Amino acid sequence: MKINLSQAPIVDAHSHGFQADKLVAEPPEGFLDRITVMGMCFGSATGVNPALADAVSAMTDHTLMAMLTRRRLAEYLDCSPEALLPTRHTTLKADPQAYISGLMADANLSALFVDDGFPLPKVDQLVMQDLTGITIHRVARIEPMIEAARQQTRSAADLEAAFQAELESAAQEPRCVAFKSIIAYRTGLDVGDPSRDEVEASYKRWQAAGWREGRDTSKALRDHLLNVTFEIAKKYERPVHIHSGAGDTDVVLTHARPSNLGPLLTRFADHPTVLIHSGFPWLGEATYLASLYPLAYLELSLYFPWGMLDMDRVLTQVIGAVPTNKILYGSDEASEPEILWISAKEGRAALERVLGSAVERDFMTTQEAEVIGHNILARNVLRVHGLA
Ligand SMILES: [Zn+2]
Repeated sequence: MKINLSQAPIVDAHSHGFQADKLVAEPPEGFLDRITVMGMCFGSATGVNPALADAVSAMTDHTLMAMLTRRRLAEYLDCSPEALLPTRHTTLKADPQAYISGLMADANLSALFVDDGFPLPKVDQLVMQDLTGITIHRVARIEPMIEAARQQTRSAADLEAAFQAELESAAQEPRCVAFKSIIAYRTGLDVGDPSRDEVEASYKRWQAAGWREGRDTSKALRDHLLNVTFEIAKKYERPVHIHSGAGDTDVVLTHARPSNLGPLLTRFADHPTVLIHSGFPWLGEATYLASLYPLAYLELSLYFPWGMLDMDRVLTQVIGAVPTNKILYGSDEASEPEILWISAKEGRAALERVLGSAVERDFMTTQEAEVIGHNILARNVLRVHGLA
């Protein structure tokens, strides 16, 4: 059974900012390196060994994400795969706005939710809106706000007050549609509810350690500030996005599994929480949480697009077990705009295959499959954020 979602616009629920001049300035020959997971980590993580850059680059031609992008983009740019890198660079450089907005139109992308915490300094999202030709919604990451508040203050109470003021100010901005935390990269997802004394003591340990981040220093303080974030998010009706699962190699891997989130999701069960990356690679745990907690949502980036062949399995699992109006498409593009494009195109195709197979096996009707497809690609994320 063929399900056709080519007319379904895509809203990408998780991506990052980019700027035309920086894209043009990147070495053209490294383009495919920068779109593999390993290559992207060389741009985002602090714990990588630069001496391994050549070894990482040597794997690019053997990595499906790069192989497929080379072929698909060459078709799109009407050149041979061998000529892709110079052709892509010339096209981008000649008119970045025309090239990038053309990619968005070709993939039928209509809006992006952009996490403003990477890269830093922040990308001007209104400029990005002109560059892409589509709507950019701001997701305000809390960790840079915490860092700014820490630098301006000298006590836990003052830090919290300054942080709260930053949250309130972000919430006043109409373009800011959600808050985001990467606490998995700081102290882990097992967020508790520490007492005032524990928070004060944590601040002092963190300070005494020269602001070295760790579960033995800043954890209680960070846990408390995430609880504060949820309170403000409730007041202003903004969903909270939580990075769940692994990411680049800076993550606190031992406490990144989504099952760690149980206490937090229980404490704020009445507030929409989006599990960014659906706990990658611990999909089963994230599926379990979203199938039980009514307001826990799943966002599929990392499986999309880097899972490639695995995207079908991921969709089969979550569509099978989770209410389908809680599943959000996302790409986690964090380096090159072509990632938005290939992820949208391959993600839509995977969804068509999985829904088509479900109809063939009589798990749903064609009409139901089409509604689910539109919901996952765009309508769910818009509805959850009050944008429908
Ligand atoms: Zn991301």
